Amino acid sequence: METGQYDIAIIGGGILGLSTAMQLAASAPSWKVAVLEKEDALATHQTGHNSGVMHSGIYYRPGSHKARFCVAGLNNLVRFCEENEIDYQQCGKVIVATNESELGRLQDLYERGTANGVPDLELVGPERLKEIEPYTVGVQALWAPHTGIVDFTKVAAAYADKFQQAGGNIFTGAPVKKIVRSAGAAGSGGAVALETPKGTLQAKHIINCGGLYADRVAEMTGEKVGVRIIPFRGEYYTLRPESHNLVSGLIYPVPDPRFPFLGVHFTRNIHGSVEAGPNAVLALRREGYRKRDFDIGESLGSLAYPGFWKMAAKFWKIGMGEVYRSFSKRVFLRDLQRLLPEIKESDLASGGSGVRAQAVAKDGTLLDDFSIIQGRDAIHVLNAPSPGATSSLAIGEHIAGLAVEQFGGSS
Ligand SMILES: Cc1cc2nc3c(=O)[nH]c(=O)nc-3n(C[C@H](O)[C@H](O)[C@H](O)COP(=O)(O)OP(=O)(O)OC[C@H]3O[C@@H](n4cnc5c(N)ncnc54)[C@H](O)[C@@H]3O)c2cc1C
Repeated sequence: METGQYDIAIIGGGILGLSTAMQLAASAPSWKVAVLEKEDALATHQTGHNSGVMHSGIYYRPGSHKARFCVAGLNNLVRFCEENEIDYQQCGKVIVATNESELGRLQDLYERGTANGVPDLELVGPERLKEIEPYTVGVQALWAPHTGIVDFTKVAAAYADKFQQAGGNIFTGAPVKKIVRSAGAAGSGGAVALETPKGTLQAKHIINCGGLYADRVAEMTGEKVGVRIIPFRGEYYTLRPESHNLVSGLIYPVPDPRFPFLGVHFTRNIHGSVEAGPNAVLALRREGYRKRDFDIGESLGSLAYPGFWKMAAKFWKIGMGEVYRSFSKRVFLRDLQRLLPEIKESDLASGGSGVRAQAVAKDGTLLDDFSIIQGRDAIHVLNAPSPGATSSLAIGEHIAGLAVEQFGGSS
């Protein structure tokens, strides 16, 4: 690895690290910027294991980062895909109330989405729902025609290309193991040394986009961030090709307001297959994509965190249900049949999985909004769950803006 002196080192080559890098190259072209990624390829974790949905911004509290970044992010992303010839499709999405008790929450979602500036939302009755999704049954649905699908790995690769074309450096296979501060403060040149097995890179400032390890990276910088990343695995089934006709676009349930995840849904992806999921079970390893994956240190790390037990006390019942569903295809199927009564066990084959990096506060609260904090000579992205990929251009622009403001005088 050709190490050297950099103005900014971005840790993490997922969609957020790469968007930030690309936008820093545009907004601060004189800065020397490097991205350090521990894997041999970019975007192999959350970015490469998600549902591929370009969300429109319905669910999020008006004024929150999620609401602002998702609505702006979708528009920017559509433009980016057009300009860079990346396949995407705005196939639209229905959120389906399957019984009367969900109507109030569906109305709330309609009002939230409208307040967030999501265009063309419509509450539709069973007949219109049948025209949009012929096999779905519900008493009412919220139709979001601009929600779309894309391959976020391709989007991230395009960000990386643009960053490199602008002169940026990307080092893969370069896990940052240790961060050492030199006595000189930021601005005196070479304030931080980032040690990797491939060599040591000197930088004045750090941007931490470490995803499932963002808390660990923050600790390496000496920052006390007050949250711990708890990994939640989401498992998918895939519909057999002969059953793809059951799903035209995106079919979602009305989410449980007590839980930050959206509930199992049907997603037609940009490559033509249809997935059902994901559920949300506690993972015993941060990058544990299989049920049997286990890491004693990481599991003990979760268990030793007081916030974990407070979270467990709040969510144990929902959590047990998710674990049960994880092991029982029949139970998974029963939940899917609420949205799509005709689906049968034989329509489903095992699919992939993803692991969400969920930041949990010491009092057991699951952070809902994106969390981006500024440290001494670093910026940390501590919570970037869905719709983080949709919002990637808006988040990257925000972080690049913070960096120019915070580090501008010293780089
Ligand atoms: C199951 C699932 C479904 C989702 N569905 C959607 C969706 O449909 N739409 C949507 O908009 N969002 C979705 N999301 C959210 C979205 O995927 C994330 O918000 C987004 O990918 C976060 O990007 P990131 O760059 O922060 O994280 P990541 O993609 O996880 O990247 C972090 C990178 O940091 C690297 N790293 C960690 N530690 C180190 C270190 N010490 N040194 C060097 N590198 C390091 C990792 O290897 C990794 O590549 C979903 C997420 C999951 C898990």
